[in-house]
Order: sequence, then C-alpha cells, then structure tokens
Amino acid sequence: MDPLDTAKIKLIMELRSQGITDAAALKAIENTPREEFVAPAQRVQAYDNQPLPIGCEQTISQPYIVAFMTQHLQLNKSMVVLEIGTGSGYQAAVLSRLCRRVYTIERHRPLMREAEARFRACGLHNITTRVGDGYKGWPESAPFDRIVVTAAAPEPPETLIAQLAVGGFMLIPVGAQREGQQIQRITRTETGTETEALLPVRFVPMLPGVERGAGKNGAGGGR
Ligand code: SAH
Repeated sequence: MDPLDTAKIKLIMELRSQGITDAAALKAIENTPREEFVAPAQRVQAYDNQPLPIGCEQTISQPYIVAFMTQHLQLNKSMVVLEIGTGSGYQAAVLSRLCRRVYTIERHRPLMREAEARFRACGLHNITTRVGDGYKGWPESAPFDRIVVTAAAPEPPETLIAQLAVGGFMLIPVGAQREGQQIQRITRTETGTETEALLPVRFVPMLPGVERGAGKNGAGGGR
C-alpha cells in the first residue's frame, strides 16, 4: 500500500478520536489529496496532523482545524460559501465537495495561481476565485449561507457579517496575534447577531489590502 494512503487512514482515525465524527466531513477530507496542496518536498508529511509552509509566509492549516471548520459549517448541497484566505486551496477543495459553490478570496496572487491549478487538476469546478482583500468580502455574490475565515482578525469584520444570509453564520478566528485567538461562530439573526466561542486556535493574521510586494518566496521583485 502507498505510504501516503496508510498515513491518510491514520489521520482520519486520529481526527475521529479528536471529535470529528461527521461522516460527510470525513469523506470530503478522505477524497481530497492533501499531498497535491503542498510543495513536493512536503509530500511525505502531507498527512501529518500539522500545518505546513506554503510560501508567502503562509501555511496550509492543520488537518484537525480544517476538519473542525468543515464539521461546524454544517453544509448541504444547496449552500453557497464564502472563504477568506484561499492559501493552498485545500480548505476550499474540501468544502466544495459538500456545498453548491465556494467563493474564495486570497490577497497573495502567487498563492491563488497555484490554488487555481490544483482545483483544475482535481476536477473541482464549483470554486470561484478572486485575488483581493477579504475584508471587503464579495458583495456581488452575497448573501452567503456560510462564511469561513481562515486567518485571524482582531474583531469580526462588519462588512462580512452584512454579507451573511439571515440564519446563516460565519466561522472566524478572532483575537490578537500574541494572545492567541478563538474560533467564533457568528450567526446573523432577524434582529442582529449571536456570537459563540468554539475553540482556542492560532492562525496567521488577516491583513488588509492585496499583497503587491515580493514574489512567492519573499525574494523581492514582484510588481
Ligand atoms: N485556507 C487555507 C489556509 C491559508 S492561511 C488553506 O487551506 O491552505 C490564511 C490565508 O489567508 C493566507 O494565505 C493569507 O494570505 C490569507 N489572507 C490574510 N488576510 C487576507 C485578506 N484580507 N484577504 C484575503 N486573504 C487573506
């Protein structure tokens, strides 16, 4: 058996023991080749339960966190989801198997180009991408049934809450970089919002604007 297949089975068992019990979420993870979303040098570690570097000083999230987000999004095939922070594209790929369409925004163009190539290679055609500032959301395609932010914001952006359907919710890591953050579930109600804290976490920061500086390796140049 391929060592990666063995590692994948081990990871799925580990996720189960960590409380990821939703069968559809686990199946979506099983069917998404994480090794295709990391650099060739990292393939052997693709099913370790840890984040890995993807360039531009960013990381592909730890499988447990992806699984946690996926399970708590409670998706169905009719739902439209907005993701902020495409990164490697892995979380978007997992979600695309469980909903109607994923809109995903990334502020680093080189990361987005790679993610788009992976979506094509995996035959995922219900993911729409944009290089842009996630703080602005995607007003033309709102409202969204779900919004998932995969970078930590000091507080939940009002612009994004306004793009939620009534009854829909957003999962977002909230808090300062140094003190650590918590994933919050913010539900849009008829009259306002309801906030619940779900899990203490550590994410890379959600930064404003599109990155126009260095290339993928941070080695200057760029436009
Ligand atoms: N979901 C990703 C995790 C990527 S890490 C995956 O599965 O691999 C978080 C990503 O959020 C980084 O790529 C970072 O560049 C991006 N990001 C941070 N602030 C952003 C913003 N304002 N708009 C869009 N993307 C942002």
